[in-house]
Amino acid sequence: MLLEGRKTLVLGAGKSGAASARFLAKRGAIVALHDKKPIAEWTIDARSLKTENIGLLDGQIPSWLLDQIDLVVISPGVPTSAVPARYVNRKDGEVIGEVELAYRFLKGRIVGITGSNGKTTTTTLIGEVLKNAGIETQIGGNIGTPLVSLAETSTDKTWTVVELSSFQLETIKDFRPNVAVALNVTPNHLDRYDFFTDYATAKHRLFMNQTAEDAAILNTDDEITTSWANNLKANVVLFSVKKELDEGLFLRERDLVCRANGREKILTTRDEIFLRGLHNVENVLASFAAGLACGAAPDSMRETVRNFKGVEHRIEFVAEIEGVKFYNDSKATSVDATLKALEALSEDDGKIILILGGRGKNAPYSPLADLIGKSVRKLVVIGEDAENIKRQLRNHVEIVRANDMKNAVTRSFETAEKGDAVLLAPACASFDMFKSFEQRGNVFKQEVLEIGSKFKVQSSRL
Ligand code: ADP
Repeated sequence: MLLEGRKTLVLGAGKSGAASARFLAKRGAIVALHDKKPIAEWTIDARSLKTENIGLLDGQIPSWLLDQIDLVVISPGVPTSAVPARYVNRKDGEVIGEVELAYRFLKGRIVGITGSNGKTTTTTLIGEVLKNAGIETQIGGNIGTPLVSLAETSTDKTWTVVELSSFQLETIKDFRPNVAVALNVTPNHLDRYDFFTDYATAKHRLFMNQTAEDAAILNTDDEITTSWANNLKANVVLFSVKKELDEGLFLRERDLVCRANGREKILTTRDEIFLRGLHNVENVLASFAAGLACGAAPDSMRETVRNFKGVEHRIEFVAEIEGVKFYNDSKATSVDATLKALEALSEDDGKIILILGGRGKNAPYSPLADLIGKSVRKLVVIGEDAENIKRQLRNHVEIVRANDMKNAVTRSFETAEKGDAVLLAPACASFDMFKSFEQRGNVFKQEVLEIGSKFKVQSSRL
């Protein structure tokens, strides 16, 4: 792809927009970076691009500019409908996303991971699996480092492991992962998609350019990803935690098994997996399948899985104080993710004190009711949606309201008995009380630490 002298407009001045603009300018393109937000509110990094010969634009995109542009690069946070019709209707104008731009310059091979839940955990684990197997590996995409930033460091030997959101997949064209993983597709982002099928279709695009040389790894316990299995060009590898498969990777009692060409191998056992919950067994099976497709040795993968402590803010073990274990699952911003965390911890003998609430997503809390009734000693509700949660769940459990995280943690600890677990898994966004789910998780951990400082902490990673 020739960029020299090409007039480009990058839409969205966030992390991947700034990285795209910088990438394009370095390769000789004439670049304007646009965001509808006033320039004064952009990040320092985005504003600094002015000194790198990049034009900065806010507000409305002027029509005279649109007439001159050859290429639009769109950030995942900007809906494709934001590209003005004046440009879209031109025959010679191209619109691509940051992932597609990166793909055109990336050397080596690619593992792409998508799904509604578990992407970051699985991407991180696959990255570790490959690295520890002696494969030259880099990780990026939705997980943090924009993919364009990895183009420069890639070589013909590199495997780039990419986390991909549905938004990123909407704007790919030729992007072709050698190994593609779909974990699950559950209702999500329905604020941006009119229909669930639109969201599922965006995720399915991960496979659209694959060939018979590639591998497509699908969760066969998920209705949507299973339905894709028969219509792909790539070699399909299935995984399941619910049933034995004739071919593929599955859980049989405690063993994670791979069966291929009539032969079986035990990859590891659940007792060797540090991560909690059956959903994490799904992530581990998907990672084994990806590792095998990339040529990693099974014994090396087993060792990596055994040492993998998970990703911060995902059912993260914080500390054990007076026999009470504290877990931070601040990333559980949907009812579905909270349900997974509850399922994971309800395998233990003790009860759970669950901290729930924040900015609601208009999804019913009723899917939690049964498990809450069985496993939760008390519900501590916080944030904007607290009263709504109370209304929906009051017939199933005792509920108290806390004003802030400090109060929530203190009240949880007061209620807990030896052997119980205190779980922050809010099923809500964090923005009513915090800047991000990370900040919410950090505040929770600080409050736990504060309590811990008054007691003898029996086992802790603090
Ligand atoms: P994503 O990057 O897709 O948001 P994460 O790995 O960050 O996924 O996990 C997000 C939330 O979903 C966490 O609360 C985590 O415990 C839960 N989760 C992780 N893996 C799965 C899975 N396979 N199925 C359902 N929920 C999961």
